[in-house]
Formats: sequence, C-alpha cells, structure tokens
Amino acid sequence: MVKRIALAQLSSCWGCDQSLVDLHLKLLDVLPALDIVYWPAVVDYKMADLEAIPNHSIHFGFVEGSCRTKEDLHLLRLMRQKSKLLVAWGSCSAYGGVQGLGNQWELNDLLERKFLKADTITEGRIPEENLPGFTEHVTPNPDIVDFEVILPGCPPTSENTAEALTALISGKPYDLPDKTVCDQCPKERKEKKIKKFFRTHEGHIDPNKCLLDQGYLCLGFATIGLCGAQCPTVNTPCKGCFGPPPNIKDHGAKIISALGAIADMTPEELERAFPDPIGSFYFTDYASSYLSRIRGKQRSRKKK
Ligand code: SF4
Ligand code: SF4
Ligand code: SF4
Repeated sequence: MVKRIALAQLSSCWGCDQSLVDLHLKLLDVLPALDIVYWPAVVDYKMADLEAIPNHSIHFGFVEGSCRTKEDLHLLRLMRQKSKLLVAWGSCSAYGGVQGLGNQWELNDLLERKFLKADTITEGRIPEENLPGFTEHVTPNPDIVDFEVILPGCPPTSENTAEALTALISGKPYDLPDKTVCDQCPKERKEKKIKKFFRTHEGHIDPNKCLLDQGYLCLGFATIGLCGAQCPTVNTPCKGCFGPPPNIKDHGAKIISALGAIADMTPEELERAFPDPIGSFYFTDYASSYLSRIRGKQRSRKKK
C-alpha cells in the first residue's frame, strides 16, 4: 500500500530537505512507495492545502525546523493533527537547533540586535507588518507535541533519512542507537590529559590520532553515532551537531563534566579557550538543555 507523506518546514535552513534531495537516484528506491501530499520545499503547497487534508490521514509527517514564529506553532500542531506518525526530522526539530542559542537572551534583545544594532544597519526598524509574530523563545518541538520518531542531525545524512523512511514504509520501528561518534571513528585514542586547546586552524593535526587527545575540542564522545564520524574522519573536530545519544540527558553538561576530568588546565585557561561555552557545548541543542529550561521557568515566574 502506498503511504501518504507530508514534509513541513518550520523556522529552519531547509538543509534537511536538501539532504533528502541529495539521495538523487536512490530516491527511486522509496518514492514508488510514497504519495507526497504536502512538501512546500519542492512544490508550491499552501497552508490551506494541509488544512484541507482529513485528520490522521497522513501516514508519515516529517517536521523540519523549530518554532520561532506563531505560524510555526500552528503548522506543527496541524502536522500532529493530520499525521498518524510524526518524525522530528533534524536537530532543529529534535532539540531546537542553532536558533535555540537565542534562548540566552530576551526576544527584545534579539530583535534589537538583528534589526537595529547589527553593524551593517543604517536606518534600522523592527518590521511588524505582514509578519506572523515571534515566539518568546524556542521550545523544542517534542515539548509541544508528541513525536513517534526522533531523527536528529544537522542535517541527518541522506542515508539516515533513507534508512528511517525504509523502516517506516516496511512497518518497522526506527530507534536511535546508544553508540557515539567515537565508536564510529577510526582514530587511535589514548588516556587524555589536555594542557592546551587549539582552534581548528592552529597547530598540525596528526591524522591517525584522536583529535581530542591532540587538544582539539572534538565532541564525538558525547554525540550520537549516526553520521559515520564524517567530520573527524576528515580531521575536523565533531561539533556535536547530532546531539547526544539517548542515554545522555544533557549534551553540554556531559561535555563540561568530561572536560573537568581530562583538562589539566586552570579555570582561567578554560575560560580563555572557550569564550562562547554555550555555543561550543550546545551547538544545536541549547533549547533542550537543563540550563535553557531553568532560565525559561525563571522568566515565566518573573512575568507573573
Ligand atoms: S537541522 Fe540543521 S540542516 Fe536541518 S534545518 Fe536545522 S539547521 Fe538546517
Ligand atoms: S577524534 Fe573525536 S570522534 Fe574520533 S575518537 Fe577522538 S574524540 Fe572521538
Ligand atoms: S561528526 Fe559531529 S559535527 Fe560532524 S556531522 Fe557527525 S555529529 Fe555532526
């Protein structure tokens, strides 16, 4: 039986869609089993087209992006209403994404920075007309509606999406593995005692040895192993874009506690090494961190 599928985009870069399109001819393995009923990234569907679809009639709803606008919230809830099985597709959808880093500031600060204070602005104004309105902060989609499947990645690899789709089409579950990027990485690891961290362009990388052992912040040890260790394999440290494996509840907290054990450095040296700790330790998942949730609760208490 052909399955009906909808692919929706909330606030995002649409890279997850790009990753699916990158399957090229391999798409022919899955497309005959699918009836695409909504996919604005490739066809000019409107919100009304989705609204007109009967509830619970879409077999698989793929949601990319996170809710930065009130229209995103409406689209997310609509996708839940129309879909039997909902997939949080990509790290924006699973955790809030890079835009979740904005949760460090108030909405007004973000608007002022973007529209009034950026260096390139000459006559700034905060636009208001014909806009859906911003959400106060980014709440991870799984805190707003239930999802049956979480498929992280920024973006998930084309193969990840193909595997998930193939499993779903054949009625099999799609579960995340507990392994990490380190489990997929071919580099030689030793006991760590890091005396100095380097930025990626500094020093000379030994391609055979673990990047973290050499003082490059490679987050493979705390990041779910789904991408095939594609960055460290080409000597680029893992930034943790797929988020943590299911057995780690807070990605950045795990990274910070590990650094405490392996870095033989003073707090001042660590501060100098990581001037943007939240950006470094929670690249795509700050919105789902304990820190962001605590801050969100403090904000709501202040407003009462
Ligand atoms: S998860 Fe990454 S690639 Fe996908 S939409 Fe978000 S920012 Fe883009
Ligand atoms: S290079 Fe990175 S991914 Fe590879 S073993 Fe070291 S920490 Fe893990
Ligand atoms: S190695 Fe790390 S940063 Fe690179 S794609 Fe995989 S999870 Fe993302």
